[in-house]
Amino acid sequence: MAKPILTSQDTDFPQWYQDVVAKAELAENGPARGTIVIRPYGYRIWELLQQILDERIKATGHENAYFPLFIPMSFLEREADHVEGFSPELAVVTHGGGKELGEPLVVRPTSETVINHTFSRWIQSHRDLPVLINQWANVVRWELRPRLFLRTTEFLWQEGHTAHATSEEAQEETLKMLGVYRDVVRESLAIAALTGEKSPAERFAGADRTFTVEGMMRDGKALQMGTSHDLGQNFAKAFDIVFAAEDGSEHHVWQTSWGVSTRLVGAVIMAHGDDFGLRLPPAIAPYQVVVMPLGGDDAQSTVEAAMQLVRDLEAAGHRVKLDDRLHVGFGRRAVDWELKGVPVRVEIGPRDLESGTAVVVRRDTREKASVELERLIQTIGERLVEIQQALLDETEAQRLTRTSLISDLDEFKSTIAAEPGLYVAGWCGSASCEEAFGDGTGASIRCIDPFEELPGSEPRCLACDNLASHQAVIAKAY
Ligand SMILES: [Zn+2]
Repeated sequence: MAKPILTSQDTDFPQWYQDVVAKAELAENGPARGTIVIRPYGYRIWELLQQILDERIKATGHENAYFPLFIPMSFLEREADHVEGFSPELAVVTHGGGKELGEPLVVRPTSETVINHTFSRWIQSHRDLPVLINQWANVVRWELRPRLFLRTTEFLWQEGHTAHATSEEAQEETLKMLGVYRDVVRESLAIAALTGEKSPAERFAGADRTFTVEGMMRDGKALQMGTSHDLGQNFAKAFDIVFAAEDGSEHHVWQTSWGVSTRLVGAVIMAHGDDFGLRLPPAIAPYQVVVMPLGGDDAQSTVEAAMQLVRDLEAAGHRVKLDDRLHVGFGRRAVDWELKGVPVRVEIGPRDLESGTAVVVRRDTREKASVELERLIQTIGERLVEIQQALLDETEAQRLTRTSLISDLDEFKSTIAAEPGLYVAGWCGSASCEEAFGDGTGASIRCIDPFEELPGSEPRCLACDNLASHQAVIAKAY
């Protein structure tokens, strides 16, 4: 076996992450600090995820549209919390066409302002509601501590923006889209994430309430994977989005926004990868199966058998790669595909052919099995289903194992340093207690009152011992 080509996860998880992103050819740094070049293999993962999500977004009644990259600075200033929250991250264009601009333009950090400006012209009557729009786009947020996929100055995402006649409808929409994210993360990314509300300190700038999908990575840290915001009437008032009700009375609309980004690719890497590389869930794997004919005296017939197998697997609806690099050593080729996380590898050698079999290797468990050629297509199909489920089960088990109830602040602080994970505690709701959780630990409240069942927390606040008003899930996070 070749020597490991990645830093081991136990030695240095962040270094492992950097190694695997580079060596699996997912992405690299762009020339401007904080920017990302997404390489074809990484981009394909994003594309597959995007297709799945786009279908779900359309199936829930939303339509795609596109809004401008540049936003007048004055638009951001209309919603006080919004501009305050985003100011430190803004990229601002002051010159265009060789001249100083009359008004600076912001490169969108998110599109509430420009979209709501447009909504104010689209919406007049209750008959115009609801408006259900999604945009696939790039956004820019100046990033001081960039990390490929997780935090980059420019990233790709979708942002949904909706307008409704009532507060109840907007609340329902906020939770509906949170549910879509949770399901896609669970079913396609095979990550058993938690969902719940963000504390006021972690809320989106300009929202009344923010809900989040929080995944746990293999080092026990949390990663925010998507958010859904109930915007109330904050932007409607800032942009004067008013509709006439049936009785002729005028009202501001109620709104939501929600988004997930290329960060999800980072989540897949960190939730499933091991010391041998990526382990991709079949649903979003660029290649679900790689077929490797072995060289030797009878290379011709193994290559032909491999090509036939590729055609049969493609006909069965799988994404397949033929690796016929016979000039490259077998071990090296196997290591390459493990690194790239291809769920199933099929090895066909002359001796296998003689006995009418092929070797099927699962990437998740690295188990090898000899399978009769007649049963190969069916077996591979079954393996893919099993792997998708097994990866999900693993994240679920890991999350449960690494979730602890905690009721003593000092104990919490010493424990989380040694054993990163999710800590469930009571919280009184005060900002100072929230700060106390993070003080010296670097941890934060990832969500409150999660929808998933967790062990019941203490009825008293972890920091101040007053009566708790929320169950808080506290963790270190990316
Ligand atoms: Zn408290």
